[in-house]
This record gives sequence, C-alpha cells and structure tokens, in this order.
Amino acid sequence: MIREDNLFPMTFVVFDMEWNQPIPYMPSPVDPKILPGEIIEIGAVKLQMLSEKDYVLSRPFSITVRPQYYRIMNRQVSRVINKSTDDLKCGMPFPEAYSLFQEWCGEDYVLCAWGDSDISILKSNLKIHGLTSEINERFLDIQPLFGRVAENTSQQRSVAYAVDFYKIPQTDDFHSADKDAWYETRILQESLIDYFSIKEKNPDDEQAFPSLRTYISNPNLTTQKKWRSEAFPSEKDAIRATLGEILCCPICDEKLQTEIPWFSSGRTYLSLWQCPQHSTMSGKIRAKKTPKQEFYGSGQLRFVNGNAARYVREKWQEKVEGVKKEAESPEIDSENETKCEQM
Ligand SMILES: [Zn+2]
Repeated sequence: MIREDNLFPMTFVVFDMEWNQPIPYMPSPVDPKILPGEIIEIGAVKLQMLSEKDYVLSRPFSITVRPQYYRIMNRQVSRVINKSTDDLKCGMPFPEAYSLFQEWCGEDYVLCAWGDSDISILKSNLKIHGLTSEINERFLDIQPLFGRVAENTSQQRSVAYAVDFYKIPQTDDFHSADKDAWYETRILQESLIDYFSIKEKNPDDEQAFPSLRTYISNPNLTTQKKWRSEAFPSEKDAIRATLGEILCCPICDEKLQTEIPWFSSGRTYLSLWQCPQHSTMSGKIRAKKTPKQEFYGSGQLRFVNGNAARYVREKWQEKVEGVKKEAESPEIDSENETKCEQM
C-alpha cells in the first residue's frame, strides 16, 4: 500500500489571475509573444489540509494591479471580466503587488491553479519586469485532478462545470480573480476528499489511482523537449524520421525507458516513457507541411501528470483492442493502419 500519511498537514495556495491583452489592430508596446497577457488582478485562497477529511479555507487575498504595457482594455477581455480602460488606472505596479502576494503565501505550500495558463502568464510578467521567473517549486493543476477523481476522465472541464458538479453554492459571478480562486479552492477541497475516498477503496492500485504527488510538479524545470525532422516529400517518411529520435529526460538528460512504444491515434503519434527519477513523460508526433508542400515531423516530449499519462494508456488500450478486432475480421482492409509501431 502507498503510504500517504506524510501528506498532512499540507497547505495549498490556489491562485487565479485576470490579465489584459494587446489590441489586435493597434501597434503593441511589447511583442505579444513575450507578453501574451498583462496581469491586472491577483486573487488567492489558502486551503489547509489537516487530514483526509479536515480542511480549513482562508479569507481570499485580492489585489488590483495597474498595467504598464496594455493600458487600453481589450474588448474581448472586457466582455469576460467586465472592466474598462478607466479601471486599469487603479491598483499598484506589478512588482509590489507580486511581493505582497508572495508574503501572503508564506512558506512551504503547494501552489495551485486551474489549468496551466496562469503559471505561464505569471512567468512572462515576472520576466518583463526583470524579476526572477522562478516560482514556488511545487505546483498542482487542479483541472486534471478534478477530471480524474470526479469523472474518471481526461477531458478538460471549466471551473463553472466543476462548481456545478460538486453543487458548490454559487453566490458570486465568475471572472474576478478572488472569487474564481475561492471556487477553485472549493473544487480542490472536494477533489481531495474524493481522491482519498477512492484511494481508500483501491489501496493497492497505483496504476488506476496514481499518488497525489504525481499531480504535483516543479514549474521551474524544463519539462519538455521539442524536435523536428528534415523535410520529406511524403508524410510517412517525415513521421518515420521523427520516430527515430533517441529520447532523454528533458529534466535530467537520463535515457528514458519505453512504457508504451509509439503508436498512431488518428493523425497523431503517441508514446509513454519513464525516467527513473522523474517518472512519466509523454511523447507526441505530428506531420506538418512546409510552404513548399513537403512534410516534416514535429515531436514533443513532456513531463506529464497522472491524468495525462492515463489518457495515453487509454488510447493505447483502444488501439490494441482495435487491432485484435481487426485480426478477428480479416475482410477489413488494414492497409492504412500499417504504421510505425514496429519501429
Ligand atoms: Zn529525469
């Protein structure tokens, strides 16, 4: 049985941010690739987990940030968060706001958000202000944890969906940072309760229910690697060349062990790998077209949480079962399925 009793007590800081975006038809003061969104609000709630069933929620933290670059409200964003250009004149500069937020977080906590976009926006904002983009080294994305424990799915759900699912009383509208953070914290709390009760029923099934720790990763590590093949006249050759890449762990560079070899799932190729130190990595390859109408393969290897790994295992299972069925009914033309699994 996997001992998880050293998990308690644990503090989770669930944060949520709102950000403004450049105006598409106006020259942008900075490259939108470097700053896809400028933070205008930070909200957060702390959740203390004292035992499987004991949780304490803090009062929400909320701070308004005055943007320095995108000072005109983007209309699309405004529609969602209901703020005007005038509102953007209020608040404190980002470096001060962030330092207050960090102070509020304290020490020894797991940073949490819904999805991974808040983390990448936060990093881009830190960089543009010349601050270190290293953030808390433990991060948990609530979205895949919810998917797995609540519905046993890899599908991405919205916060509103999860609030509905757990029948959390909806006292406020969504899309203000502190309210959203509060809802996300409640979802996290319910997901943790579900997690421990499922775990209790399947104490030995690590495969079906990976440890909570597999949902926590270090957002400061380079956890992905991309590569591409040369251009080829045919898609098949491009894929074949891309599949040949020898894969090492993007974090420690150790050679990876194959858990599931490359297989096709629609037009994408998937695979699963294990690093002895950093556990599961998933691989993905797609063929892309060059402007000269040739093909190259684009590969990506990344560190994944328990839920994303399960998705690949399920696709592989479907594939294996499909192949079995085909073998049973030989009249089905399997010509198109002669893909590169053997490689
Ligand atoms: Zn590694």
